[in-house]
Amino acid sequence: MNEAVRPVVAVVGSINMDFVVESPLFPLPGQTVLGKSISYFPGGKGANQAVAAARLGADVRMIGAVGGDEFGGKLEAVLRKEGIDTRGVRVTDGATGIASILVSGGENTIVVVPGANGALRPEDVHGNAGLIEAADIVLVQLEIPFETVEAALRLAKTAGKKTVLNPAPAGVFPDEWLQWTDIVTPNETELAALVGAERLDDPAVLESAMRKLHDRGAERIIVTLGANGAVLSARNGEIVRVPGRKVEVVDTTGAGDTFHGALAAAWAGGASLAEALQTAVDASALSVTRQGAQTGMPAAAELERWRR
Ligand code: ATP
Repeated sequence: MNEAVRPVVAVVGSINMDFVVESPLFPLPGQTVLGKSISYFPGGKGANQAVAAARLGADVRMIGAVGGDEFGGKLEAVLRKEGIDTRGVRVTDGATGIASILVSGGENTIVVVPGANGALRPEDVHGNAGLIEAADIVLVQLEIPFETVEAALRLAKTAGKKTVLNPAPAGVFPDEWLQWTDIVTPNETELAALVGAERLDDPAVLESAMRKLHDRGAERIIVTLGANGAVLSARNGEIVRVPGRKVEVVDTTGAGDTFHGALAAAWAGGASLAEALQTAVDASALSVTRQGAQTGMPAAAELERWRR
């Protein structure tokens, strides 16, 4: 990617500190157990996707919020170290968002406290309109208040930007948003929640679910399919399937976020959507061969070498 024409990606989303506690067992209500370890990882879908896009060469502007506590400063520093513009990150009086992840015997339970992410307001979007107006693509997820997501999509579309809505977690959002969304990108579970289906493991059922979403106004849909890759469906009936890469899986944490950052960086950089989709599938496959979410995200040169 030529430095002089670096694509600009604005991310409006969450910034979290993830606490991972390893324990020999899950405590019952009222029980105390002695844990094995605690680790701290920068996370949040917004920040993760911003890091993935920056590693792949995009000029990334983050709009988000952290608390005035020590985690907020650390997380902002992590973003800046990746070369991400954090002028749009507001420091609130409250606590930084956290995800408390308890791991035992290969399973986990997670408590997310949105903290500052829950305080990100439409005014934060409007106050940073310049960052959005300077972007090629605006990328949003659902870990911030709905009215803020809506404000970001509306402003971006009014400014003529490409928009990507990752409806995660949980999927469901007002259909009205689809008029400001170029691509909506659920995983299979999120698509099922969106169309009220039980399961989507059959290709015909998946196609009919995508058709339902097109009928509700979605122009383009990308569904991520885990090890099976991803599929792009356009309202005009065009379908592009990119099979998953066969890799040795080490840790799938952050695969979806790597996918989104890569998709945005590549599409903003002038690739066709089909090419950007291939880049996203490749980058996310490479990320699952490594430990951690942000730690597993590839840099552009690494991805190039790996693809050859
Ligand atoms: P997560 O929540 O784990 O970050 P997700 O549920 O949002 O992920 P997935 O569909 O599981 O999204 O994965 C995103 C992309 O990552 C897939 O489209 C695929 O390209 C890649 N991927 C995930 N798991 C694997 C795997 N086991 N092998 C190869 N690629 C994978």
